[in-house]
Amino acid sequence: MADKTLANWQDAAAKITIDGRAIIDGKRAQALSGETRTTINPANGEALAEVANCGSEDADLAVKSARTTFDSGIWSQMAPGDRKMVLVRWAELIEQHADEIALLETLDVGKPISDTTNVDVPSSVKTIRWSGEAIDKVYDQISPTAGDCMALITRLPLGVVTAIVPWNFPLSTTAWKLAPALATGNSVILKPASNTPLSALRIAELATEAGLPEGALHVLPGPGGSLGQHLALHMDIDGMTFTGSTPVGKQLMEFSGQSNLKRTFLELGGKSPNIVFPDANLESAAASAAVAVYYNGGQTCTAGTRLIVHESIHDEFVAQVAKHAGSWMPGNPLDPDTAMGPMIDQGQCNTVSEYVDIGKAEGAELVTGGNAVMQDTGGFYHEPTIFSGVNNQMRIAQEEIFGPVMSVIPFRDTEEAIQIANDSIYGLAGAVWSRNINTAHKVAAAVRVGTMGINNYFGGDITVPFGGFKQSGNGRDKSMHAFDDYTELKTTWIEFE
Ligand code: NAP
Repeated sequence: MADKTLANWQDAAAKITIDGRAIIDGKRAQALSGETRTTINPANGEALAEVANCGSEDADLAVKSARTTFDSGIWSQMAPGDRKMVLVRWAELIEQHADEIALLETLDVGKPISDTTNVDVPSSVKTIRWSGEAIDKVYDQISPTAGDCMALITRLPLGVVTAIVPWNFPLSTTAWKLAPALATGNSVILKPASNTPLSALRIAELATEAGLPEGALHVLPGPGGSLGQHLALHMDIDGMTFTGSTPVGKQLMEFSGQSNLKRTFLELGGKSPNIVFPDANLESAAASAAVAVYYNGGQTCTAGTRLIVHESIHDEFVAQVAKHAGSWMPGNPLDPDTAMGPMIDQGQCNTVSEYVDIGKAEGAELVTGGNAVMQDTGGFYHEPTIFSGVNNQMRIAQEEIFGPVMSVIPFRDTEEAIQIANDSIYGLAGAVWSRNINTAHKVAAAVRVGTMGINNYFGGDITVPFGGFKQSGNGRDKSMHAFDDYTELKTTWIEFE
């Protein structure tokens, strides 16, 4: 709720009941082993919840149930218009529980409450509603054959799909996977990140309440290295959709090859270029450059961490961005005025500090920030940080830091800006700022990324596909294109007598 204060949210946090049990067959269940794992609130380092620690035996049970449900046709063969109604009801239920789910996400991830209430929950509701609304408007095809025959080209659900998601946008990535996978009729087993399972568990409970058949969705919290790997190698899972790091994505491709060639779609890391020309609206570009890196504490796959600035405006522009960085000092995520919360855990905060040391050792100039702060809270906070004088070969320009660290790289001309932007193993997102349509379009077309902004960063909505080029992945979340990742194309050739 927009008018809630820090005290209101603290009170709600003190009273919230957290259920960390898995969802199997639409119902809450402990892991078969009875094991649990304690999750930590990154804002204060304190224990938050006891969560079921599922293993391969839970996975096997869920796969069996998902397969039986799929084969029964109760969901997979349901009229798309009826599946639509379930997804729309589900979106409504999430909306009705918006404050509770936003609070769970804030406590679990350390995301500012203003983000979870204004962005994560509403955008997830929209994703689920939109995918539901779209699915009964999809038509299949008839090919242009001769008159004595007819060929149907239809799309069928894959079957049983596993979705493995990360900790940085747990609710949004869960919605991006579940909405199209379920809309197209699949049965799904979701494995949330070990750190952040709570919002996915809660919305899965609401899916049952909305009328989703019980075996169509299972949520199993548990370790990636054992439970996740077991799912990835499973012989009775037909599809795998993943959002996470590039090294794990590469492993999952191998697991698919080692097992049953399950269809595998990956949304991976990034080191995105944000290119600023002298003729841009520099005020907007500077404010946006800060948002592009510090939003979600830089723990964003699309973060614009390489700020590529024309040499003629470099010093003045860096000073402008540094002023904006000041308004991203971290704070208590339950405070509606906080723009940036903590890092997800101590390990991630240490990684950010290590990269600050690497940047200094590489000879980059530390313009602002560079320190872990607020240690007295017990949380894992880090200042917004800017390095200038970076060249694109430095590690701070090449490696995904996943924290609030910006690397500013100067360029001389358009060709060099494009060359620097493309000199990366990643190709997820980027932006160009210029008032010249020719420059802007030329650069936008030449930069090899899945999403490019012109005079904006983070632009986009559910109507457009999202995914990466190069080692940023191969699948596409969002929009009607997401349905392609969860369906097989089938030809049926009919000959008339
Ligand atoms: P991660 O370490 O790759 O983990 C992602 C998920 O994979 C978690 O659920 C993890 O489980 C699981 N996992 C880990 N090892 C596994 C294995 N061997 N087999 C199967 N599953 C395994 O990534 P993260 O640190 O959570 O998230 C940050 C990364 O995600 C960044 O690189 C970021 O760029 C990327 N990301 C990409 C997008 C996109 O759309 N392109 C969006 C958001 C984030 P545990 O939690 O138990 O380890």
